[in-house]
Amino acid sequence: MKNKIFVLGLDGATLKLLDRKELPTFQRLIRRGISGTLLSRPAITSVAWPSMVSGVNAGKHNIFDFRRGDDLKLSIDKKAKELWDYVKTIAINVPMTFPVREIDGVMISGMMTPSLDSKCVHPEKEKDFLKSINYAFEPDITPTSIEEGIKTKFKLIDRYINFDYELFFIVFREYDVIQHFFWNDNLEYYQLMDQYLKNFLKEHNEITHFFVVSDHGFTKIDKTFNLEKFIEQQAYSQFIEVGGWGALYLKDKSIKETVVDSLRDFKDNGKTILDVYPREEIYWGPYAKEGPDIVVSPKRQLGYTLGMRTNEVIEKSDKKNGCHLEKGVVVLTGKDIIPTKKDYKIFDIFPTILKLLGKEIPDGIDGKSMI
Ligand SMILES: [Zn+2]
Repeated sequence: MKNKIFVLGLDGATLKLLDRKELPTFQRLIRRGISGTLLSRPAITSVAWPSMVSGVNAGKHNIFDFRRGDDLKLSIDKKAKELWDYVKTIAINVPMTFPVREIDGVMISGMMTPSLDSKCVHPEKEKDFLKSINYAFEPDITPTSIEEGIKTKFKLIDRYINFDYELFFIVFREYDVIQHFFWNDNLEYYQLMDQYLKNFLKEHNEITHFFVVSDHGFTKIDKTFNLEKFIEQQAYSQFIEVGGWGALYLKDKSIKETVVDSLRDFKDNGKTILDVYPREEIYWGPYAKEGPDIVVSPKRQLGYTLGMRTNEVIEKSDKKNGCHLEKGVVVLTGKDIIPTKKDYKIFDIFPTILKLLGKEIPDGIDGKSMI
């Protein structure tokens, strides 16, 4: 019998969030499977999911952000082959897959999809089903919309699980969205998933391997660092373009070291609070030069995140109370999997899936198979 793989993507989940006594199904999966943290650097959704499904860093897949200025980054900008180029796949809501490609299987695009009227589903005839369930691509930031988004995706699973596939890959963005704004109130949404999975796994024993993955972790934050303000204060503004999510593009490369040092030395309450990555530490490959020269990531573990439109460099965070950690989660259970606790990298998911499906792992990727 050929292996069949199901990947449950929970944007922004961590091992700690899943390993709770209130979530017996997740706890059982963790106990029976390979489990650990999944390192994602930088912890940016638009960079991380393409890395997971292609096994390479952004210097090889060419997606460094959701946008550069007004220029939106789309699936057509991606330069690396992805899981669905190798195996028959149902891919639902994976960020940065809009517009959809004609894959062997079904693809419903994720984040950056403008509306149901766009090129958001392959094959096109599946659009009728999406319309019939009022499918929304991204949830609003309200508890009702989050719950609805999760339940609507259950309907998608229930439909497409009966189609022919080797790999079923679905991403729930709802967990990321709720955790940014309601960090302390996420349990009920995980319980909703836990309950669904309990029945789902019982009913679908044709699935030989089950993954739970996230693109990055999450933690509580209470302060913001405004990168643009900082650059202004240091009088670097005319030499630097500030992109999204801590990206700095230097117009004058000769100031790189000075800028890196001044960011690394920046202190709040006597503590340095910024992780600063010069490009070469996180991006390598033929497209690395397209990426930012420096990526700045406030230390979330100390309670800091990036803030925009604030008056001061450091301010108390008023709306958001959670943000990304570099360490996400991976759990893998199924046939011949021996319970293990170990830490992995986001690039390791791609070769693991190909290996389980009996495919050759291509040269030049950045990950290693977990099995
Ligand atoms: Zn997020």
